[in-house]
Amino acid sequence: MRILRTIAEVRAAITQERGAGKTVGLVPTMGAFHEGHLSLMRQARTHNDLVVVSLFVNPTQFAPNEDLSSYPRDEESDARQAVQEGVDILFAPAASEIYPDGFATSIHVSGLTDVLDGASRGAHHFDGVATVVTKLFGIVRPDVAYFGQKDAQQVLVVRRVVRDLDLDVRIEACPIVREPDGLAMSSRNVYLDAAAREQAAALNRALDAAQALHESGERAADRIVRAAREVLDDAGIAPEYLELRDAETLERVTTGDRDTLLAVAARVGAARLIDNHVLKGAR
Ligand code: AMP
Repeated sequence: MRILRTIAEVRAAITQERGAGKTVGLVPTMGAFHEGHLSLMRQARTHNDLVVVSLFVNPTQFAPNEDLSSYPRDEESDARQAVQEGVDILFAPAASEIYPDGFATSIHVSGLTDVLDGASRGAHHFDGVATVVTKLFGIVRPDVAYFGQKDAQQVLVVRRVVRDLDLDVRIEACPIVREPDGLAMSSRNVYLDAAAREQAAALNRALDAAQALHESGERAADRIVRAAREVLDDAGIAPEYLELRDAETLERVTTGDRDTLLAVAARVGAARLIDNHVLKGAR
């Protein structure tokens, strides 16, 4: 595996391989790898000749009051794990390589980013995501890029950018990888002390309860959401949001007839956590 720091090096390495007819898979990450990240790398490894993983804690997607400076970083351990997954190139640039002096462009996806994490964290968050992902696509020019369904809204935003800007890349969304008690794996789980770690398992339990009610035939959105809220209440968690929305458009729904996304964000101990389940509709 090669660890590359500059855009020029990545371009040179990939152009050569692509010229030989190889397909390129890209996994964008912010590092501090866990099984969720590794599952994306395995998908990429299985389906592509060349696997590129980017490791970049993207400053523009953090608000000033968020955890940019304390975000877990361990490049040595990440590199070891990437080698084990058969990654070919780990692209780990400095912030100045991605955002040189004079950088002035931002990509904003309207509508989809007004709700859920866009509302909760602010518009800058998905602008930062859309801009850096578009740059990574320009640098790596992957055939396929792999994202986790854990960040369901991010997948929708990236798909919209690709569609609207006619980018020649296929987006693959991979299932959420969970701890044995159901907590969605996240680099931010290291912020949880023992009590908060136990409390955090209630997020997925809440989504499970709502999903069970939906599977039993309940279609009223308010009742489905209430089933989840009760579990959160019992665990002493007050969510930033807990909403049922159309799984494609993120419009609010009153019934769970179509595919819907039940999404939650909550502060648990020192961490802000997100999770979601897709409730399968009849369509
Ligand atoms: P991050 O480093 O947190 O930006 O995540 C990099 C990629 O890994 C994103 O596409 C995430 O959605 C994905 N990811 C993070 N956690 C999980 C998880 N528990 N299961 C599946 N994918 C995940």
